[in-house]
Amino acid sequence: MLNSPRIEINLTKVRNNTEKVVGLASSKGIEIWGVTKGAGGDLEVARAMLAGGVVGLADARMVNLKRLASLNSPLMLLRIPMLDEIREIIKYIDVSLNSELEVIRSLNQEAKRLDKVHKIILMVDLGDRREGILPKNVIDTVKEIKKLNNIRLIGLGTNFACFAGVLPTAGKMSQLMNLVDKIRDNLKLDLPIISGGNSSSLPLLKEEKYTPIANQLRVGETILLGLEVPTGTKFSLTSIETFKLVAPIIELKDKNILIDGQERIQRRAILAIGKQDIIPEGLKLLDKSISIVGASSDHLIVDISLRDDLKLGDEIEFRLDYASLLRVMTSSYIKKVYCGRG
Ligand SMILES: *Cc1c(COP(=O)(O)O)cnc(C)c1O
Repeated sequence: MLNSPRIEINLTKVRNNTEKVVGLASSKGIEIWGVTKGAGGDLEVARAMLAGGVVGLADARMVNLKRLASLNSPLMLLRIPMLDEIREIIKYIDVSLNSELEVIRSLNQEAKRLDKVHKIILMVDLGDRREGILPKNVIDTVKEIKKLNNIRLIGLGTNFACFAGVLPTAGKMSQLMNLVDKIRDNLKLDLPIISGGNSSSLPLLKEEKYTPIANQLRVGETILLGLEVPTGTKFSLTSIETFKLVAPIIELKDKNILIDGQERIQRRAILAIGKQDIIPEGLKLLDKSISIVGASSDHLIVDISLRDDLKLGDEIEFRLDYASLLRVMTSSYIKKVYCGRG
């Protein structure tokens, strides 16, 4: 009988990775929020992150965060809110990241209606060109936010390495610090939080002499996959053996193929996963003698010429990159199997 495709999640290793990242950060006075979106907001993974010492859970999707609310930890919404999720944000979320005054005013209105105070971090675009207001508009925006009684601006935040590939540097961070100082001095507003970025900020922390300006980071990839961002290589302190994708062989045949105009025979296998579940380029075979030929929506084709021992139903194992993990964890066709304890 064939086994179904599955993702094996080692919760012990997720927790250990979290402990390593939290330890590194706390030695520099930084708190870590565990970002669950790469794992589709998975409850067990989130529990492992909490056991590893994160101060709260962060995700881009309200669907995930509403599920995570059952864990009774502080929740952060990472993606700039949609206007029609304002009500749920005030109900479930402790802190949201924002860059639009219109949205912040709506949050204020809803918070007022429910007699609550909602915390926000104002995102500043330091060059990555994804979310955030430009530095020159920060002061004026903060002046407007200050008028809102049911919104508490707790800090400034920024994001790196997500779109234009701009990386966190000491220079970029002191630009953010200058803005915080200006707000503290000119607007008499104490901003306790400097939310300095994501996994891509961690390598800097390993430099002994580096004194960070940020006191908060939002970390997903290095905890979940143990990888350094943006190099994609193993981060020195973490394990990359956290998630393993396993898929069975459903066809195994010699195929005639053309290589350099010459007809050759190649031993190929088809696995029961496809582009609905994975991004083929984001998979890494554990067995280096096998290689990926390509994929369609429901099939993954691999070259197994160097493995004459494989038979129908045998399983092939992969590690994943972040984008592929995200797709696996949101595919309803892939079974989740947990091992270890979070
Ligand atoms: C996804 C995301 C993160 C986490 O990024 P990683 O590279 O997974 O550490 C942090 N902040 C924001 C705003 C995000 O969207």
